[in-house]
Amino acid sequence: MVSRPPTFCPDCGARLETITFDDRERMQCPTCETIVWHNPVPCAGVAVVDSSGPEPAVLCVERGIPPGVGEWTIPGGHIEIGEEPAAAAARELAEETGIVVETVDLEIMAASALPPRADKHVVTVHYVADWADAEGDPVAGSDATDARFWTPAEFAASSETFRPIHEDRFREAATLFE
Ligand SMILES: [Zn+2]
Repeated sequence: MVSRPPTFCPDCGARLETITFDDRERMQCPTCETIVWHNPVPCAGVAVVDSSGPEPAVLCVERGIPPGVGEWTIPGGHIEIGEEPAAAAARELAEETGIVVETVDLEIMAASALPPRADKHVVTVHYVADWADAEGDPVAGSDATDARFWTPAEFAASSETFRPIHEDRFREAATLFE
């Protein structure tokens, strides 16, 4: 399986041919006859919500690396081989914001397919956590240029942009703590 449309066979290097299989276009190696599957990549993220103020605020990060530099997202990223989704979400949160949460304090909020970028499709498991269960102070870490809490109203009044789908989860997470 590959995350972007393949051109060559990963095993023998032959140029792949397009076939129709299961009513979809697939790429097959004419030498090995192997189908090189192109499927979504699983990711996990967590929205940490501070409900101590007048309106719930969600910890968000500003992307510092392509694609989508300058876009705000919920902290998250790729699940590693052998890693549980909740552990991946907690690890990405720590890497990107310095905030530590226990996986037992994460609750699944949603699972969504994100709009593809450069033909790479991602499915994200979105978790939510209470800021009261978290440790640390937000500091922008790897892949991020900023890490801070936003309320949906503050964000709407700003000139910043949020990554599609992530923005829906951002608002949904805040709503859960109203
Ligand atoms: Zn091959």
